[in-house]
Amino acid sequence: PPPPPPARQPAARPPVAEPAGLQAPLTTLRGVGPQQAQRLARLGLSTVGDLLYFLPRRYDDFSNLKTINRLEYGEEVTIIATVVRTEVRQTRGGTGLFKAVLTDQSGYVEATWFNQPYLEERIRRGQQIVVSGKVDEYLGRLCFTSPEWEPLQREQLHTARLVPVYPLTAGINGRWLRQLVKRTVDFWAGRLPDHLPDSVRQEHDLLPLDVALRQVHYPDNREQLEASRRRLAFDEMFVFQLGLLRQRHVWRSAPGRLLTIDDETLQAFVLSLPFALTGAQQRALAAIVADLRSERPMNRLLQGDVGSGKTVVAAAAMALTMAAGAQSALMAPTEILAEQHYHTLQRLFAQWPGRPPVIRLLTGSVLGAEREEIYAGLADGSIDIVVGTHALIQEPVTFRDMALAVIDEQHRFGVVQRLALRQKGGNADGPYTPHMLVMTATPIPRSLQLTLWGHLDVSVIDEMPPGRQPVETRVIPPRARERAYAFLRAQVEGGRQAFIICPLVEESDKIEARSAVEEYERLQKVIFPDLRLGLLHGRMKPSEKEATMAAFAAGELDILVATSVVEVGIDVPNATVMMVEGAERFGLSQLHQFRGRVGRGEHPSYCLLVSDSPSPEAEERLAVVEATTDGFVLAQKDLEMRGPGEFLGTQQSGFPELKMASLTNMRLLEEVREAAFRFFESDPELSDPAHQLLARRVQEVWQGVGEVS
Ligand code: ADP
Ligand code: MG
Repeated sequence: PPPPPPARQPAARPPVAEPAGLQAPLTTLRGVGPQQAQRLARLGLSTVGDLLYFLPRRYDDFSNLKTINRLEYGEEVTIIATVVRTEVRQTRGGTGLFKAVLTDQSGYVEATWFNQPYLEERIRRGQQIVVSGKVDEYLGRLCFTSPEWEPLQREQLHTARLVPVYPLTAGINGRWLRQLVKRTVDFWAGRLPDHLPDSVRQEHDLLPLDVALRQVHYPDNREQLEASRRRLAFDEMFVFQLGLLRQRHVWRSAPGRLLTIDDETLQAFVLSLPFALTGAQQRALAAIVADLRSERPMNRLLQGDVGSGKTVVAAAAMALTMAAGAQSALMAPTEILAEQHYHTLQRLFAQWPGRPPVIRLLTGSVLGAEREEIYAGLADGSIDIVVGTHALIQEPVTFRDMALAVIDEQHRFGVVQRLALRQKGGNADGPYTPHMLVMTATPIPRSLQLTLWGHLDVSVIDEMPPGRQPVETRVIPPRARERAYAFLRAQVEGGRQAFIICPLVEESDKIEARSAVEEYERLQKVIFPDLRLGLLHGRMKPSEKEATMAAFAAGELDILVATSVVEVGIDVPNATVMMVEGAERFGLSQLHQFRGRVGRGEHPSYCLLVSDSPSPEAEERLAVVEATTDGFVLAQKDLEMRGPGEFLGTQQSGFPELKMASLTNMRLLEEVREAAFRFFESDPELSDPAHQLLARRVQEVWQGVGEVS
């Protein structure tokens, strides 16, 4: 056979293009019409830049080139061969079948493809083709079944190399996407100026941007692939860290709102509460009070496990803000959560000896005259505390004097949304930066805190209110599932409610939704025909989700079947069982979050983890969830077993914008953080002419950050 075709690198062109070209919609690319663009959007791709940075899920190693006489059963190989004969047939099942006999002088082998009748037009007798795939066996002879193939050409895309395998969605096939990415990378990579300054690149031994982008898609070999991944991961974290440092810098120098707070007011609020604060709550509150008293705006993260009592700490801060004559806003990610907070605040303020606060709720379902009235009340200052959803950051909302912004479940909001709330601060004397308290129930391992929260001060509530019963957790083998159902039924018959979480499906949310619908129907028809079941999945409209959650919270449903969307902090004290199917596929922190949905009332509660394929590793992980109720321990275990990508690139981090996160590791993270820190010290304004591209990149990624000042 001829030698493998050399990988051809197009000659590097001078970097001339404006990065603006990267913002162009995908429809500007040849072969991408509006319909394809819509499908690509489902993969999170909307601009040319998205496509350049679209990472392969994995690579098929078809670089192993062999002659036909040396093929071995089961191995992944590539052959280069001539088509001797082709044949089209119908199988008895009615599917079409296309067969080609191939030779390379050393021998003959057959390849078969199913349901691809058009291959008859493409693969012709006498043609030279490259075939890659696993060697199969049929009736004692070696063969290929539905292998990748392409005509022999100077540069192979689908065979004979490390072939990228991209995430796909309905209507987008792998070969088409590969070609699209290849054309885009070939055109753009050499035209992009590298925003990492030479000094940084040299010091950390990083590939130039164009090489890294080419190699991450079409690597020449494993070493080049690793080097390109390292460059892109370093790059992204470096820009991210610079953004954090910059934000901290800007916030620290911004004028705050001095609040006059006396200890008596604080005492009065605390004493009026229906319970005594835990030590951890007191410590967090003391730190917050110190922040509110300083002229620098507060930037504090309040981290505490589900049920640790963050809301009351936020409420105290709001009480103090009100007593000092200013307004507060509390933003939550869903309507139902906002409503819950609204009622909680009313309860917490019930015995407060001061002037009763005017608290209002602003969500998407507050309409018409009521909405106008709230807008007016916020603008003239007659409302002291507003609780709401994204509605709070919409255009018409203005405050007279909003000195404290609280964001609950902050990881559910994007950077830009968090900043938007902050930008609503200000009063008649001009704009100021309000104090900001962000809350999260997702523990981040301490070793990652500096990386993610370097711009914030962190308070941890690491103590549960007294009298809380731990949720009893059991790992269940699949064969015990029937017993688990019986247990659920018994709980429901005793007047309680239950959750059943469907397995995580990573390919697409559509498939996940479909399997959730199937599971729901099966459970309703076969297992629990006499009970009231509800369904919740990510493909439902927000209003449908809210309605289902509300029905469950009101006790109108016995069992809620859900995908992982149920995670957010809703309080249904009557729910006592959380059953998780396919538990081994979830992160430990996420299982812990699920578990936090139960055990919120006076009844003993249970978490049943059903594990489908108990590998020793999965068993070990699940045993940790069984054994501990400490979210930090679980987060740390997750980090050790799955790496930092699990936190950085997902919703849990609050920075899902991090696309390269899966490529990183702890060592690289520390290297980057240290590098960014030194770099920032040397040029905090990024004003050095050699750093202009980098400054622009930071600005792009952290859109709007500069405006805060
Ligand atoms: P989370 O931190 O998950 O937001 P919440 O603020 O919703 O937790 O508090 C959970 C529950 O614990 C609430 O019902 C709250 O009233 C109660 N709680 C909070 N702090 C205490 C405390 N110090 N003692 C007793 N119960 C408390
Ligand atoms: Mg909460």
